[in-house]
Amino acid sequence: MPFTIRTKIILGFMASLIFVCVLSMAFGLNIVTLKNKMMVLDEFHGLLDNILEIRRYEKNTILYGYQEKTVEELMDYLQRTKRDISILSQSIGTIEGVDQYNSFKKKFETYRTLMGAGKKRLDSAEVARIRTLGSDMVKFCEGLLVQKRERIDRSLENMVSFSITAVLGFILCVAILFLFEAKSLIKRLKQVTLATRSIPQGRFKTIMEDASKHDEISQLIAGFNQMVRELDEKQEQLVQSRKLASIGTFTSGIAHEINNPLNNISLTADGLLDAFDDLSDTEAREMIQDILIQTSRASNVVKNLLDFSRSDQTHMSRITIPEVISGTLGLIRNQLMVHKIRLTTDIPDNLPAIQGNLHNLEQVFINLFSNAMAAMADGGDIHVSANVQDDGSIRILFKDSGQGISQENLAQIFDPFFTTKAVGQGTGLGLSIVYGIIKKHSGSVAVESGNGQGACFIITLPTAQDEPDAR
Ligand code: ADP
Repeated sequence: MPFTIRTKIILGFMASLIFVCVLSMAFGLNIVTLKNKMMVLDEFHGLLDNILEIRRYEKNTILYGYQEKTVEELMDYLQRTKRDISILSQSIGTIEGVDQYNSFKKKFETYRTLMGAGKKRLDSAEVARIRTLGSDMVKFCEGLLVQKRERIDRSLENMVSFSITAVLGFILCVAILFLFEAKSLIKRLKQVTLATRSIPQGRFKTIMEDASKHDEISQLIAGFNQMVRELDEKQEQLVQSRKLASIGTFTSGIAHEINNPLNNISLTADGLLDAFDDLSDTEAREMIQDILIQTSRASNVVKNLLDFSRSDQTHMSRITIPEVISGTLGLIRNQLMVHKIRLTTDIPDNLPAIQGNLHNLEQVFINLFSNAMAAMADGGDIHVSANVQDDGSIRILFKDSGQGISQENLAQIFDPFFTTKAVGQGTGLGLSIVYGIIKKHSGSVAVESGNGQGACFIITLPTAQDEPDAR
């Protein structure tokens, strides 16, 4: 089940809490066990002390025979030791094994019987037996103490190493999980950063996201994708409204383009009507032919206009730069004449095709022509050239002889709403749209200029790969 980052943090915190609790409990249990072992060690010490005390009586008894006044104390020690041996039966059995315990107990019983017999004088065989048994019992108890101490040391070592291993293991697990999560987070955030960076360049790309993820980053990516889709739509709307604005600006020119053929048609039709009877068949046919040519000229202008104003989103197809330039000139040729602009072009017909949107690219050149005309109030020259570069891309130079762009404005002219034109004459959107459209075509646009030196826009576009038309 997918978790959000918040849930993961809470789960991590709870897991750490549970781990600390379990570790503390294990530690506490170990301490209790260790304390029990220390108590048993104390009891073994007590047993050894008792046996050593008995052996002191043993020495006196061997040297001087039974002393009436100490016999009661000896009996008391023997009784106490017997009781201790049976109380410690389980602890001794765990350390030495049941057989050893039984043999120790048996030795003690024999010793006790010999020592408690109350003989005035012990013979040498009894003395030797008592000494051997006494010494065996002391050795046995000392052995018990050594082993118990070793066991306690081992338990302590185990406890420390278990705690260290558990803490290190936990830290390692947390570190691995953290690294894994952080890596995936950073990777996804990097995608967002890259996609965000491409927005100012006019590339509105959505981010592919793993559908199984439902955390905060997924929400961020979903929001980002939504924003990108809306921006893309807005950009299209902007291009479209600029196109309509361009038509508005060029209305008089376009009207002229239509009026000319209409006038010609009218004149020719009048002439035909007036002199119909005097005209030979061939002359009349020529005049009708002329009317047809003028009609087709006018309908071409209208067709261009309709094509250009149509909202065709970003339908990409194989087109050529000469196609784009001639489509643009079809719309603004008359304006160039009115503004006394001399246009020269150097665009080879055999330029490779590009994958692009004809009307959007026409919009690019209409914007460039409009700006150039505005920069050459008293007329001037525009030169458009294109060539294929070494890397296969197409480079288009759009050069005018106008007032040029000052150094301080150069860095801003592609910014939306940057304009040096008077209020009502410029929106500051023309070049930002140029930038957006060219970026959408995976190309680049730059400008070179200086005050009074004219401006030169350099557009680079990749040529079409052999791929089907795409939207
Ligand atoms: P607008 O034309 O509405 O001002 P643009 O984005 O098309 O908006 O242009 C921004 C600014 O860039 C213009 O106001 C102008 O100062 C400058 N500019 C653009 N093209 C040229 C050019 N060919 N010559 C001189 N200045 C230019």
